[in-house]
Amino acid sequence: MHESCGVFGVYASGINVAQTTFFALFALQHRGQESAGIAVTDGNGIKVHTKMGLVSQAFTENNLALLKGHIGIGHNRYSTTGSSRPANAQPIIAESDGLTLALAHNGNITNAEQLHDELQGRGYHLHTGTDSEVIAYLILASPSQSWQEKIEYAMHRLQGAYSLVILTEDKLIGARDSFGVRPLCLGRIDNGWSIASESCALDHIGAEFVREIEPGEIVVVDSHGVQSFKKKNGKKAICIFEYIYFARPDSVIQGKLLYSTREAMGRILAEEYPVDADFVMGVPDSATAAGIGYSNASGIPYCEGLLKNRYVGRTFIEPEQRIRELGVRLKFNPLSRIIAGKRLVVVDDSIVRGTTTPRVVSLLKKAGAAEVHLRICAPPIRYPCFFGVDMATRWELIAARKTVPEIKEHLGADSLGYLSLDGLIRAIDLPRDIFCLACFTGAYPIPVQIEMDKLALEALPQENLSGIKL
Ligand code: SF4
Repeated sequence: MHESCGVFGVYASGINVAQTTFFALFALQHRGQESAGIAVTDGNGIKVHTKMGLVSQAFTENNLALLKGHIGIGHNRYSTTGSSRPANAQPIIAESDGLTLALAHNGNITNAEQLHDELQGRGYHLHTGTDSEVIAYLILASPSQSWQEKIEYAMHRLQGAYSLVILTEDKLIGARDSFGVRPLCLGRIDNGWSIASESCALDHIGAEFVREIEPGEIVVVDSHGVQSFKKKNGKKAICIFEYIYFARPDSVIQGKLLYSTREAMGRILAEEYPVDADFVMGVPDSATAAGIGYSNASGIPYCEGLLKNRYVGRTFIEPEQRIRELGVRLKFNPLSRIIAGKRLVVVDDSIVRGTTTPRVVSLLKKAGAAEVHLRICAPPIRYPCFFGVDMATRWELIAARKTVPEIKEHLGADSLGYLSLDGLIRAIDLPRDIFCLACFTGAYPIPVQIEMDKLALEALPQENLSGIKL
């Protein structure tokens, strides 16, 4: 499962804005590994550098030295719309009628196709296949005068999930969709301000976390300081997978440190699915905290039974089956001398297609594990995501096709326990109604475009169409 992107912005004089953005993107690398980019301005035009690959591969000292200015934005991309190619790397630059902006987007616009056609019809020439370009030109197409009003106009038209950072020649702007699906927070840095997908990026650049940008809020930073423009909040739909997997455990979202919420998920899993075992282990790194929670609650010692090669990106480097299969072997090495003959509780964050987990179980069993009891920090994922997470079509989701006992057999585990939805909410300790839970329940908080419904359904055999709640 892939998160779609990480975004960052900074407005500060007296610091190296390009280098600060580089290190913030470095901290947000987990949110996207296909391409990286930085755009800056010194008030006199916008300069941008984007490249395919990891942040460390995309920039040299020389590239950064050319990006001079006091406002900068940056982006790590994982493609959810538009293919993975250099032209789709962000930030994107859009120009019209003498106005220029650079934009970086995390999320997915569900009515992008309709808006794209409308913009083309109005004479705008869109060059990439991304919904982010649609957002940029929608802002420029607004009849309003101020940037804030232009963005409000675009937000009024956009459906879906978006956390945005936007750069103009004199402003840094952050905006978040009215449901707050993707995170975005505001920080203070020296005599300036920064905006980031996650608070861990602020920590790494020495910025102080100030607050989250509210769902539906636009924050404008310029020479007058920070201004906030908010619409009355309706229903929130924060992606619950930020808590389970996407965001880093050292980030704070809605006042909750994710390490602690994951540790609580493990504790509640131990209550819901106890088992006799010799060791507990979390699949590194995303389930380490939950594994420790399970160990603390059950009294079963924690051990590191799988060592992760930290220089391999996340498992799904390329969304192609052959590479994914190689990925697990490249990524993990089991400690056979520790786990041989032992009964293991293995805690993992989630099961999507069910292609990676059986390979982990098989690795452990080949290394001599006597039993492997899987405990999963999320309920079964039965519905696809349309809000910026590249998950799978519905029919690719193993829990949409199989019962839990069938999944256990498929995975080759000795037992399998999924955290209940109530248990998940209890672990996060926030009201249930502020979350998007659609991939578990099928109740989508945002209207999903007809085309997307079709996309999900066309992969599903006809006899399974009844009861789908798209
Ligand atoms: S459908 Fe699932 S992954 Fe997508 S935004 Fe909602 S909770 Fe997150």
